[in-house]
This record gives sequence, structure tokens and C-alpha cells, in this order.
Amino acid sequence: MKKTALIAGAGPAGLTAALELLRQTSWLPEIHEESAWIGGISRTARYKGNRMDIGGHRFFSKEEAVTRWWQEMLPLQTPDGPDPAQTDEVMLLRQRISRIYFMRKFFDYPVSLSRATLAGMGLRRTLKVGFGYLHSCLHKLPETSLENFYINRFGRPLYEMFFEDYTEKVWGLHPSQLGADWGSQRVKGLSITAVIADMLARSLHRKRSKEEVQTSLIEQFIYPKYGPGQLWEKVADEVRAGGGRIEMESRVVAVNVQERQVVSVTVQDADGTQRDCPCGVFLSSMPLRDLVAALRGIEVPADVAAAADGLPYRDFITVGLCLDKRKVLRELPDTWIYVQERDVKLGRLQVFNNWSPYLVADTENTLWMGLEYFCTEGDALWEMSEADFIAMAAGELEKIGIVGKDAVRDACRLKVRKAYPAYYGTYAEIGKVRDFLDTIENLWCIGRNGQHRYNNMDHSMMTAMECVRCLRDGVSDKSAVWSVNTDEAYHESKENK
Ligand SMILES: Cc1cc2nc3c(=O)[nH]c(=O)nc-3n(C[C@H](O)[C@H](O)[C@H](O)COP(=O)(O)OP(=O)(O)OC[C@H]3O[C@@H](n4cnc5c(N)ncnc54)[C@H](O)[C@@H]3O)c2cc1C
Repeated sequence: MKKTALIAGAGPAGLTAALELLRQTSWLPEIHEESAWIGGISRTARYKGNRMDIGGHRFFSKEEAVTRWWQEMLPLQTPDGPDPAQTDEVMLLRQRISRIYFMRKFFDYPVSLSRATLAGMGLRRTLKVGFGYLHSCLHKLPETSLENFYINRFGRPLYEMFFEDYTEKVWGLHPSQLGADWGSQRVKGLSITAVIADMLARSLHRKRSKEEVQTSLIEQFIYPKYGPGQLWEKVADEVRAGGGRIEMESRVVAVNVQERQVVSVTVQDADGTQRDCPCGVFLSSMPLRDLVAALRGIEVPADVAAAADGLPYRDFITVGLCLDKRKVLRELPDTWIYVQERDVKLGRLQVFNNWSPYLVADTENTLWMGLEYFCTEGDALWEMSEADFIAMAAGELEKIGIVGKDAVRDACRLKVRKAYPAYYGTYAEIGKVRDFLDTIENLWCIGRNGQHRYNNMDHSMMTAMECVRCLRDGVSDKSAVWSVNTDEAYHESKENK
């Protein structure tokens, strides 16, 4: 009889692990997913024929193996190959177009020193930015905070224009309260020098290697015809077809340990019924904080429990607005837009028509947009009623001049818990949590919240792939799984889109 590998979570990490276990080992995967949908944060939500991608998921990886894996699932469109007009199972090749909206004007993203940028800023501001940058080159600040990190690279005026408010919107903390190491991870290599070098390379039409392209400057990406969830639903089908099980609305509430081994996991169904599911190995992509709180049969040292309990998260709300195209006041070729305006809470705008026209029920007449808000569960934004939230979001879009009056034909709101594992609070003590969890021999932490690491889909998948490799080869040391996306070469800012 095959032994059960129990997996918490049917997001990219859990599903990749399940499929690779079936392909490479004799373990039988059994996924328990607390929600009613496949794909975790990378799912595609549906609303009256429209599809919504939470956050807009670019499929891009520096890892060839991951890109191949995606394209084996859904082949890439080519002139002679799969044609999106003819087939559903296809990856589109998309252009990334994104801009910053500030002072009711559009600016290039990443910030470029183009004529349009200078015209948008005006002479006075341009001079201020230039002198600010020169000043930052001559007087380096101690890199004790993210604020100083940005100022050292961009100068204070540019930092104040393009980084200060947006960072605070995303993390709920002023950049002066965030660590500089976080910045070096997120915007590695992205500086004025990088921007200028990229502009020069473009003007010389020099073909750059993948490594040379700063991750924040990547311009093309692949994308499933029906959004990211399409790919993960396909993976789920393959897991089921291969004999694996996926139980939906089945939440892992206790992880039962005996003699440093997970022997079973207690799950709770939607109606509150609980039952024990025995397992030979447990792969967890549930949030690290929840995992430690769910441990039974093992004494968790007080400092480990406190470190896990203090891990912070940022939550996320998206409002899908179906807009009458005739009432959209601006040309919007963008896939997404950063909203830097200080008088609105709105953080980012997704134009789903431009991600894939197949996400939209009526592309001719409607623009299907996602308005993104960063928040913390329990705060005023989180607690707002759906009707009030939609009214606020629609009002903000009108206020900043993107749409005129009565543009909204229909709308929905979607809340996402723990969208971002954050690097403050007790994050500095995460090593204690990891060391303790590693003493439970058959417990493997994979994925984004599963490792409390700011992983994109590719790295979330790679933690699962590494874990399967260890199980296949009988490796008990988990460091290879924990070290995905910690290597210098991996640190990047793909999601800082
Ligand atoms: C706004 C935003 C934009 C992003 N953009 C990109 C992008 O452009 N490109 C990219 O590659 N990545 C992007 N990402 C990152 C991507 O979403 C994640 O890397 C990926 O979804 C993580 O996969 P995961 O399986 O580790 O976790 P998740 O997707 O979080 O899946 C975990 C699953 O576990 C389930 N779960 C949690 N607790 C339990 C429990 N106790 N019992 C059972 N089930 C449980 C959850 O319901 C969820 O389904 C973005 C993320 C956000 C928030």
C-alpha cells in the first residue's frame, strides 16, 4: 500500500508537490484545502462571466525548469502552434505595460528619464530631483532603514514622489520603520544607474541576456488564456487523474506529533466536523504562524511560540469594476498601474482586458478592472461592508480622473487574507521557528506563507520541487528546501511590478 503524503493547501506549492510526488515517488498525495477554490492566491476568481486575477500574476521565472513545467501544462502560443482563438489550453505571450499615476499624470514604470517624464514633472521638479540625486551620491545616509536605502539610491525628492507613500500603502508602515535589508532584496540592482543602463541598452538595440535584465524591468511574460487559476486547475485535474486526492473546504486545524513524527493531521470540514487523517509525511503550505499554533503532542518552547505568533502579514482587497468603455476618460494600454496619488487609498489598478481579453465577458463594450487595496485584517478597510467598499473604490477612480460619472455597470469585492508575509514584527527571529520545526522529521514547510518568504509562484513551486527531491532521494536535511530564494542571485522584485 502506498503511504500518504498529506499536504495542507491547494495553491501552487501544494499542487506542485502533489503532482511531483506522483511523478517521482511512491507517496500518495492527499491535499486538504480550506477554501472552496483551487490555486490559493494564484487562483482566478469568477464574476458573471468575467474572470479576476488577484494581483495580476505574471508567469516569469529565471528558472528554465519552472518555465518548461508551466509550458508543458499549457503550451505557449506560437505562429504555427496553439492559437488562442482556436484552443483554450494555451499560454499567451503578453507585453508588460505598466505606468505610475501621479499628479493625475502617467509616468513610466520603472521610472525612466524620458522626455515624457521630464515634461510630466516640470522644470522645477526635474531640477529638484536632479540635485536631490546628486546630493545622495555625495552624502550617503547610514542604511538603517528602507527610507535611507531608497534615498541613497534615488535621492530624497524622487523617493518622496515614487516610493514613500506607495511603500506605506503596501506595508502599513512608513519606510523609516522598515528594515533596509528588505529593500535590498526587493529592488536589488534597480537604481538610477540601472535605469540609465537599461535605457542605453534599449537605444542601442543590444540584446541582453536574461540575467542582465533587472527583474523589475522585464517586459514580456507568459499568461494562461483564462488567468493563473486555469493552470492550477489543470494541475489539480492531473493530480486527481494520477490517483491523488484533493479535499476542498477541509481545513488543517491540528498537526499531531508523536516522537518527532507527524502521525496524523486533524481536519475540519465546512460544517465544523473534525476527523483525523493519518499520514507518513506532512507538507505544509499553510501560514507558518498557523502551523506552529496547530502543533499537538510536542512541547513548543515559549520563545519559538512567541516568534511564530508575532509573524506579521498584510491582507489585500480587490474590487472588480465592470466599466462602460465610453465613460473611461484615459487611454489605458497598461496591464497594471501604480497609483501614487496621495488623496486616495487605492494602491494599484489592474486592467484585465490587457492581461488577457479572454478574462472579460464583453471586451467590446466593457473595461474590466481590478482596484487593489492593501490592508490588515480587522482594520477599517477590512471591516467595511461590500456596498460601501465598492462605492468608495468607484468614487476614488472617478476622483483621480480615470472614469467619468456613472461608469460602473457592475462590481464585486474580494478579500484575501495573508496575501503578503511581512518582514517586520518577529521576522528577525524566524530562524528559531525553522530550527524547531526541523526537529519534526517528516514535516516539510513549502511555499510562500508556508516558509514566510516573499516568494512568487516560481519560488513557491521550487520549494515543493526540492521537497519532493529530498523525499525521493531519502534526504532528511531540509536546508535545500529552506534555501530556495535566499541565494543572492534569487533576490529580486518580480512582484514589485
Ligand atoms: C497581489 C499579489 C500579486 C502577485 N503577483 C505575482 C506575479 O505576478 N507572479 C508570481 O509568480 N507570483 C505573484 N504573486 C505570488 C503568488 O501569488 C504566490 O507566490 C503563490 O500563490 C504562493 O503559492 P503557495 O501555494 O505557497 O501559497 P498560496 O497561494 O497562499 O496557497 C496556500 C493555500 O493553502 C490554503 N490553506 C491555508 N491554511 C490552510 C489550512 N490550515 N488548511 C488547509 N488549507 C490551508 C489556502 O487557502 C491556499 O489555498 C503575487 C501575490 C500577490 C498577493
